[in-house]
Amino acid sequence: MRVSGTSKVYETVPVEVEEEQPDYLNCVVELECGLPAVELLRYCQGIEAALGRERGEAKAPRTVDLDVLLFGGEKIDAPELRVPHGGVMRAFNLVGLADLDAELYIPQRGRVGELLAGVEGRGIKAFGEAEELC
Ligand code: ADP
Ligand code: MG
Repeated sequence: MRVSGTSKVYETVPVEVEEEQPDYLNCVVELECGLPAVELLRYCQGIEAALGRERGEAKAPRTVDLDVLLFGGEKIDAPELRVPHGGVMRAFNLVGLADLDAELYIPQRGRVGELLAGVEGRGIKAFGEAEELC
């Protein structure tokens, strides 16, 4: 597995939550990956565990969350893995994807650059370059 692209890191106001929560840092990473999608998900879950992810209720503040947003142009509808990820259209994901490739096509949705033009991006601030923060 090889990291072939990294977006900027963005500081984002939590979305779809009721109570007050601290802001998040979000970043999108592109991988060249020989694993089947479900093994990539397991790999991500292994990293979450190694980083000490605590699982609270859904949408509770979390220490780390690694999601598989896209897997090439595939559409996957398994109970444990939905791709594109249900949150791929969230503005902070589109902003990160656009850093990688604004021409990227999200199955059944459209090109990232065009989708981004239609969303409201308030509450998303560039925080830094991933390379500088790691
Ligand atoms: P969140 O929905 O906030 O990311 P979790 O990270 O706890 O919550 O994920 C809950 C479940 O979502 C996992 O058990 C996983 O199987 C499932 N899931 C479905 N599709 C995906 C995906 N594309 N990427 C990551 N997890 C996914
Ligand atoms: Mg997740």
